[in-house]
Amino acid sequence: MHDRVTRRAARGVVAVLTAAAVSLGLSACQSDFLSATGEWRSAVSPSPSHSASASPEAPDKTPDQTPDPTPVPTPKPTPAPSPPPGDPAFDSSRYSIDDPASLWVVANKLRPLSPALFVPPDLVVAGVPFISNPYLRSDAAIAIAEMFAAAAAEGAGAMQIQNAYRSYDTQVRVYGGWVSRVGQATADAQSARPGHSEHQTGLGVDITSLPERCSIEECFGETAQGAWLAGNAWRFGFILRYPADKTAVTGFIYEPWHFRFVGTDLSTEMRERGITTLEEFFGLPAAPNYAG
Ligand SMILES: [Zn+2]
Repeated sequence: MHDRVTRRAARGVVAVLTAAAVSLGLSACQSDFLSATGEWRSAVSPSPSHSASASPEAPDKTPDQTPDPTPVPTPKPTPAPSPPPGDPAFDSSRYSIDDPASLWVVANKLRPLSPALFVPPDLVVAGVPFISNPYLRSDAAIAIAEMFAAAAAEGAGAMQIQNAYRSYDTQVRVYGGWVSRVGQATADAQSARPGHSEHQTGLGVDITSLPERCSIEECFGETAQGAWLAGNAWRFGFILRYPADKTAVTGFIYEPWHFRFVGTDLSTEMRERGITTLEEFFGLPAAPNYAG
């Protein structure tokens, strides 16, 4: 009995020692493995799931600490499309822009009058003060008288015609005079060649103050008369034909004294659309220079 107990006890001791040896052996193998490869650190370092748990998307982050790198834009209500300015029923082809007798004829450096010797059919002496050439087509003559009267009534002072209708032959002399004084290049910026001038249509007019001040000079635009005309001529069917910012379109320098009668339908439509040149209104090419 004692022997069995002793043998049984001895088997127990062996088992315990074996288990201890196995345990120690495993630990030793792990230690040797780590010292040789360094893999232990990676084995105990944070796993990818641990890394993910430290990322901004971690579920343990509180919402108020989460940055919002791409804020969602607030949808804006789509505004209702506004109608284009001007009269939708306006017929821009109502009158010819080619016929020199048309109210809407467009003459510039690329659009000579045809025929070149055109003479307007209804020239009259405008019933207003003038310096020279007081002839305008009848509708323009009526309108300029109304315009001068309104300017005086509204406190802009008195005005007069500096120059209105010029025939082809007169334009030959006027343009030739410019060329002889300042050379052709400068003349072409300030005076139309014969056959290209609005003055020949009977619808163009140079206006100055009365008494005369800043005639045919840029400073006319700063006189009471010039400022009033720039803001009000459209009411009477006239447009400032050569605006300061449209030299590249019209081919002429700023001429605050030169107005063109087009009738109130067109002058009002141009104003409402914010278009200041006939070239742009009718979709014509800019005419900075003569073709030849
Ligand atoms: Zn002029």
